[in-house]
Amino acid sequence: MTSRYDILFQPIKIGPVTAPNRFYQVPHCNGFGWRMPQGLAAMRGVKAEGGWGVVNTEEAEIHHTSDLSPYFEGRLWNDGDIPALQLMTEAVHKHGALAGIELTYNGQDASNLYSRAAPFDVRSRGIVGASGYEPGQSRAASKDDIKQIRKWHRNAAIRAKRAGFDIICCYAAHNLSLAFHFLSKENDRADEYGGSLENRVRFLRELIEDTKEAVGDTCGIALRFAVDELLGNAGMQSTGEARDIVGMLAELPDLWDVNISNWSNDSTTSRFEKEGNQEKYISFVKQLTTKPVVGVGRYTSPDSMVSAIERGIMDLIGSARPSIADPFLPNKIKEDRLEDIRECIGCNICVTGDTRYVPIRCTQNPTMGEEWRRGWHPELIAPKKSDDEILIVGAGPAGMEAARALGQRGYHVILTEAKREAGGRVALESALPSLSEWRRVMDWRLTQINKTPNIFFYPSSPMTAKDILEAGAPHVILATGATWRRDGVGRYLSQPIPGNAKIFTPDDLMNGKLPTGKVLIYDDDHYYMGSVLAELLSENGCEVTLVTPAPSISYWTQFTLEQNRILKRLNALKINLLPNHFIASHTPTTATVTNSITSAETVLASDAIVMVTDRLSNDALYRELQPALAEGTLKSLRVIGDAEAPNIIAQAIFSGHLAAQEFDEVIDPDATPFKVERVVL
Ligand code: ADP
Ligand code: SF4
Repeated sequence: MTSRYDILFQPIKIGPVTAPNRFYQVPHCNGFGWRMPQGLAAMRGVKAEGGWGVVNTEEAEIHHTSDLSPYFEGRLWNDGDIPALQLMTEAVHKHGALAGIELTYNGQDASNLYSRAAPFDVRSRGIVGASGYEPGQSRAASKDDIKQIRKWHRNAAIRAKRAGFDIICCYAAHNLSLAFHFLSKENDRADEYGGSLENRVRFLRELIEDTKEAVGDTCGIALRFAVDELLGNAGMQSTGEARDIVGMLAELPDLWDVNISNWSNDSTTSRFEKEGNQEKYISFVKQLTTKPVVGVGRYTSPDSMVSAIERGIMDLIGSARPSIADPFLPNKIKEDRLEDIRECIGCNICVTGDTRYVPIRCTQNPTMGEEWRRGWHPELIAPKKSDDEILIVGAGPAGMEAARALGQRGYHVILTEAKREAGGRVALESALPSLSEWRRVMDWRLTQINKTPNIFFYPSSPMTAKDILEAGAPHVILATGATWRRDGVGRYLSQPIPGNAKIFTPDDLMNGKLPTGKVLIYDDDHYYMGSVLAELLSENGCEVTLVTPAPSISYWTQFTLEQNRILKRLNALKINLLPNHFIASHTPTTATVTNSITSAETVLASDAIVMVTDRLSNDALYRELQPALAEGTLKSLRVIGDAEAPNIIAQAIFSGHLAAQEFDEVIDPDATPFKVERVVL
């Protein structure tokens, strides 16, 4: 049968190798890196199993003088690193996909905190790797040093081929790699590697030529190039030198993988950019080369993918996040199961695996990062072990995921929800400014729940402990969520803030109860909520001041690559920002704020305060039902999600999934419930 999506499944030649289709998982960080090769290999293997025709590594260090610690990336310093990478190529090849590796020498961007070497760069300048502000500088590479670096790159390419890679990617993107630094207009070297564009392109050209010469007989050679840095004249521009560079190197690589720089521009969250946002920058590339072009833009819609190909923007659909949220996205398109696609919501929790140095997590896909250590699979789950019925109370993300996954196992599941609509906090939060894509978390789960005949969903059904026991299910899972505190208690303040101001919480605002006039938002949550509510109130005509005891506004959003964009938006809305302050007391017309460093006090005019602090678990039912469990009326009772411990949405989904996976299993509380990767001595 022909389908309009057939074009996505055409094989594409990349030099001497052929990708089985147009689905290209671009390199992406994951927090496993060289440290946890088994977890990494299993995660990449699942992508290949799900139909991604090409599966790449993350950036892979080619030499110890470009050591990206404390981040965990790929590593190919010497032959000793080959076996770990072989695990990945084997996992990918098992499913008929091509394996690619992104080789990188990061220069100024490498901290070398582990190797303690001096990184080479275009010139000597401050290190911007690791924290971004590490003391120390790079070392200016002499012409002999450049020869060395080329040799290291060549050696790494040969090792990559030995590890089984089919595609070797030369990296000049994200402002991370030395090759990109050489391209920069700031490269004012006096030798033949600096100054004119011809000279600045020389190093990258040589890297590609070296790689082709070394392994190009059997491997496809890709070039990953950032065509715009969104810095105007001060950086690479798709309307400027990027065109000349693509023109100069047009036919040299076997594949162009093009994007925009830096990482926060490449991986923008849905709060700031929508699907296909890079097209306007990259569309020129295909006009200058006959080689296949890959682009990204968080494509989750097969129609947008086909359109991008038909309009001549790209030949292969590059993807990191959509392949994380749904490793089986290609297969679902192929099998015409579009409603089963678990669309990425663009929240960048996946990015925090890299930025917090832990294995990757995903809001939409709770199995991401758990493939090896827990044996979880994004599409498959063990069948039921009994015919017992399960009652789940609360249809927020935790309850919906538990119901969906238990239903998939074949259990008879009753899901009840007090409100008319499912979704819990996701229904409320996705109605806040710019967060509409987050609805996908509930939409996908509702679709699956509605399709599963053994899950029975009852909205508008608030349950008391008595109702629950009368329902007669032997197993009860409580997913009743949490409520924002009103008293100011949180990370910073352990006692309620004294005063008699009009106090609001995020729950009030999300339920349509809004303050007016001069409003102080006290943010001791530090993620998105404080700034999103500031936007909401500003749009509603309030004069907003955002107060936080943290040293910067929306502190944790630096790890989701959003902080600068948030600051820009808050500044545009003229929201007053007060970091390093907490609210000491309040009256109906004032709030006294204290500088958390100097203790200096300031009295601010204020008509209302919004407390974005800790939350209280709604766990009353859990406590009320304990006796029924003790007496044996209930066989099991479990509390999940925010009702267990308030956290991000990704954690609620994970918690619901874990409850489903562990149902009918005997759990030893003393045992580690997953495999741990250990160095073998
Ligand atoms: P989580 O993030 O843990 O899934 P949410 O707050 O998003 O938590 O969802 C909890 C859901 O549980 C809400 O939709 C809420 O209306 C519902 N709920 C809370 N208590 C009850 C109850 N007693 N009976 C039925 N539904 C309830
Ligand atoms: Fe998409 Fe969020 Fe999952 Fe990342 S964590 S893949 S952005 S849904």
